[in-house]
Amino acid sequence: MGTMRVISVLRGLLIIAVLNPAHASDSTYNAGVASKVITPHTSMWMSGYAARNKPSEGKLQELFVKALAIEDSHGGKLVLVTSDLVGIPREFSSSVAADVQLRTGLPRERLLLTVSHTHCGPVLRGSLADAYDMSPEEWRKVDLYTDQLKGWMVETIVSALSDMKAARLSYGKGVARFAVNRRQPSPQGIALASNPKGPVDHDVPALKVESADGRPIALVFGYACHNTTLDFYKWCGDYAGFAQEYLQEKHPGTLAMFWSGCGADANPIPRRSVELCQKYGRELANAVDGVLAATMKPIRGEIQASYAEIPLPFDTLPSKKKLSMDLRDKNGAVRRRAARLLKQVEKAGRLDDAYLYYPIQTIRLGNQVLWIALGGEVVVDYSIRLKKELGSSRPVWITAYANDVMAYVPSLRVWREGGYEADSSMIYYGLPTRWAPSIEEKIVSKVHELSK
Ligand SMILES: [Zn+2]
Repeated sequence: MGTMRVISVLRGLLIIAVLNPAHASDSTYNAGVASKVITPHTSMWMSGYAARNKPSEGKLQELFVKALAIEDSHGGKLVLVTSDLVGIPREFSSSVAADVQLRTGLPRERLLLTVSHTHCGPVLRGSLADAYDMSPEEWRKVDLYTDQLKGWMVETIVSALSDMKAARLSYGKGVARFAVNRRQPSPQGIALASNPKGPVDHDVPALKVESADGRPIALVFGYACHNTTLDFYKWCGDYAGFAQEYLQEKHPGTLAMFWSGCGADANPIPRRSVELCQKYGRELANAVDGVLAATMKPIRGEIQASYAEIPLPFDTLPSKKKLSMDLRDKNGAVRRRAARLLKQVEKAGRLDDAYLYYPIQTIRLGNQVLWIALGGEVVVDYSIRLKKELGSSRPVWITAYANDVMAYVPSLRVWREGGYEADSSMIYYGLPTRWAPSIEEKIVSKVHELSK
């Protein structure tokens, strides 16, 4: 290399250094948090279990909506919302996103709306529509609450965005082992029962947001397991509610925020007591604390996000004759679904052959973390596959139950095996039949496209 060439290379480096003055500030973000109690003021129907037969009776814990807003040194933002809810439908999340965009300018792809999937939260309008045997009076309460909740969620997001201060981000990974696969093979097919040999994802990804002086502002963590330890009639965040409570007790001034991973086919087992629920909450909080005690890796660079909604086709649609027969089924949810779908056929001439709005969001936290957010109740195979295909050089976090919970989302394996997650759960979500077998490839290929 000649002298002139060296000078020219040096000059090039100098120009790059001038254009990019901010190697140091690349690790500096702004962050703001806000939270609000969303526990219903009146007794009302609880979500998650179709077998519930009466409204709530008091509370064990408050339910919350929480928002974390972060902004990189170039002004690129992300708002994460976590909530003690079983699921939010698209109508709700798109309405929240539209209001937020109107008030703050935040684009849709930079808003990530999630739920913990606690089964001790309230029913929302438009979610699991055919699951509940409720009176018109109970539905009126659901309507009122859903509108109130929307206002609370928007206010919480706006509030987090309007209180941003200098912050640093770091991440790590822990482990918690209470999630057990719940698809048990039997001679009659797949039973909804404990299968300790089945696949699970025991990772506990964690994100720490701390102020410039090193005070933790937010602890964000995920776990892939149903929040179904409890099935009583009190409001409660289940194990995730306790994990967040314990972390906030131990780290005063910090907002602990839980999101649910691909745990559609995992339950906390054994279950059904407050003691077990607290035990799992403690185990999860300890896993996050373990990450905090170890060396966490800093996040540097821009926050990027993309969001898409893709159509997911259904399998062969039921005939009018089949739906008419379903009107006399012994399962109330089957009867309610048939009545609703027959009305749809009358009105539109046919049933939709696809769900048109399946949401897929990908976020990059600097050059470090790829964060994938999928709608619906996603089974663990997606987590295992996407981590393998996209996680060789960086951590991949996969949040499920994100932006819209319209149904279960089986992998091709689960679809072939059948059972609740592949098939019968569609009844409670009010969808006409199971998905087409192309579901896994459609979702995974879109994730690949968006994460490029
Ligand atoms: Zn579920």
